[in-house]
Amino acid sequence: MKHKQILATLFLLPGLAAPALAASSLPGPAFPQFNNAAQVNAACTLGLGAAKQRVVALERRPVNAGWLAAFDDFYAFLEDTQYPLEFVLNVHPDAVVREAAQACSLRWADFSSTFEQNAAVYRALKKAPQADAIDAELVRLSAGVFEDGGVALPKLKRQRAKALLDQISELDQRFNKNIRDAGTVVAFTEAELSGVPGGVWKAAKRDAEGRYLLGVDYPSYLPLMQSADDAGARERMWRAKINEGGDANLALLADITRARHQLAGLFGFDNYADFNLRRKMAKNAATANAFLADVKSRVVEGELKDLSELRAAKAQQLGTSLSSTTVNRWDTSYYAERIRRERFSVDQEAFRTYFPPQESLLFALRVIEQLMGVRYTPVAADLWHPDAQAFVVSDAATGKPLAQLYVDLYPRAGKYNHAAVWPLRSSATRIGRTSTAALVVNFDRRGLTLDEMETLLHELGHAVHNNLSSTRYASAGGTRVMQDFVEAPSQMLEDWVYDKQVLKLMAEVCPTCQPVPDALLDKAVAAKDYGKGSRFARQHFFASYDLALHAAAVPDPMALWARMEEASPLGHVKETRFPAGFAHLAGGYGAGYYGYLWSLVLAMDLRGEFKADKLSPAVGQRYRNIVLGQGGQKPAPLLVREFLGRDSNSKAFFDDLTR
Ligand SMILES: [Zn+2]
Repeated sequence: MKHKQILATLFLLPGLAAPALAASSLPGPAFPQFNNAAQVNAACTLGLGAAKQRVVALERRPVNAGWLAAFDDFYAFLEDTQYPLEFVLNVHPDAVVREAAQACSLRWADFSSTFEQNAAVYRALKKAPQADAIDAELVRLSAGVFEDGGVALPKLKRQRAKALLDQISELDQRFNKNIRDAGTVVAFTEAELSGVPGGVWKAAKRDAEGRYLLGVDYPSYLPLMQSADDAGARERMWRAKINEGGDANLALLADITRARHQLAGLFGFDNYADFNLRRKMAKNAATANAFLADVKSRVVEGELKDLSELRAAKAQQLGTSLSSTTVNRWDTSYYAERIRRERFSVDQEAFRTYFPPQESLLFALRVIEQLMGVRYTPVAADLWHPDAQAFVVSDAATGKPLAQLYVDLYPRAGKYNHAAVWPLRSSATRIGRTSTAALVVNFDRRGLTLDEMETLLHELGHAVHNNLSSTRYASAGGTRVMQDFVEAPSQMLEDWVYDKQVLKLMAEVCPTCQPVPDALLDKAVAAKDYGKGSRFARQHFFASYDLALHAAAVPDPMALWARMEEASPLGHVKETRFPAGFAHLAGGYGAGYYGYLWSLVLAMDLRGEFKADKLSPAVGQRYRNIVLGQGGQKPAPLLVREFLGRDSNSKAFFDDLTR
């Protein structure tokens, strides 16, 4: 359930962007088409050239009442110019185009790190007349970006900061490319696939010996880990996935964390975690660590209990004694699933029949329509791949088009292999600018499990945050909120899939779909809390590792991981490299992974308002206006306070954790 936010900044160039079909029905620009590397390179050069001219114009502009609007115009230009390329490098079907976009992305990173040290623009930003609190917050947010870029540092340190930031961008790109292009496949005989649903492997390619070749993408990986009776098969799949980034990525992650440490040093911080957290809700690593310790204290018992149950299930299945039975990391999903099936007789696979992918998408959109007073209308559009689809989001009451949504549902070679949303464009009420979000997941064409439906709602939550933002400035739009808040709106919605009233909406978008039987959902609800101790213990572990790694003076990602994991109940497995695939850490979530748990506290608090009715249009629209609509133009704690009528607290979260 990863959410990826583009942290860098964007284009649409005359002559290069092929017009989309029915472009007039899209409120924003058509998606730019890149058919070969030459088009990418030409668009890149043209966009960067235009951006540089605009910087000069901004530097020369008198600092008067219109300055903040001009600054925001520039931001909007960057979104339209740079973001499509940053996105295309993750989803384009043609490797040549992806690689050209990746090279272009580095040129943009160089542009951004130069711009963020532009003292003239920074001074003007701080001096620009502010009409109200929204203007003041824009200045505070944007000045922070310049300051983090090193604008206020003395010359030598400033140069060093730019070099480090450019280096980090490049290393992060290589890290992600290694995963995207790994193309890992694992060969299994039919016997080894015993227990795995045939739909997962029967149509797969086979090698010369007739073995089935399965990728490590989610539609293959998850069902195999949950249902392959052969422990050796599970182990091979698990090892293939966990080693995907390889030693190359371990080295890259070490370089990235070292560069971050040096960067923090330039600002007088002795570690990157404190440097990075100072503008977030948590404010510093000590607060984040104290929060994590609190979480840990409440899940430690549950984790051990879960583990002993897994061991008992394994001993029973294999007919071994409890004391001689060891649970391995490749056993956990399998035995947890067995317990879930036996104890709660719930089978995630059973949901696929009820949740065909396209209908599931329409259902999820219908939930948002009902709740937030909007309409989604599918429109024809030329996008990056024939599987991708476009929707216009409009206000239900006025019919006014508000936004565009792109959706890319299925896995394919070279595509980003997790679930994420790219906010491609932010809205700005001052110029009637509409927003665009792209939702990217990797679902099985046979249908979704309930867990995957949760993922869909989660990602849609990010898209809605972008799409329904109604801020004055694009540069404060949608998901440009504090990073330890950004997951909250998405996490809040995950719970919606367990509600019968909500699931009934499926009949409105798919009259021929069989409704999920009440009994099946009841079982899923009963099973929901099962394994919570282990799940939260793992999240806690990831977050603690991330903070520890970014607090170290000489970071050694693999050694630290092995040491910390060795101390966990399941221990560390030699020759495995989890950090090599931990893209959050290499990218924008470095020292920020705790934000998933931190946001969850807020999500559960927000969810309380929907307790009586998860489809209440009154509460939904209040939420849309007070929280989503405000994007980053008010600080996150204030948004939450205005919606709840009080400050947020962790009661709902901790009650749920120990339930
Ligand atoms: Zn997310």
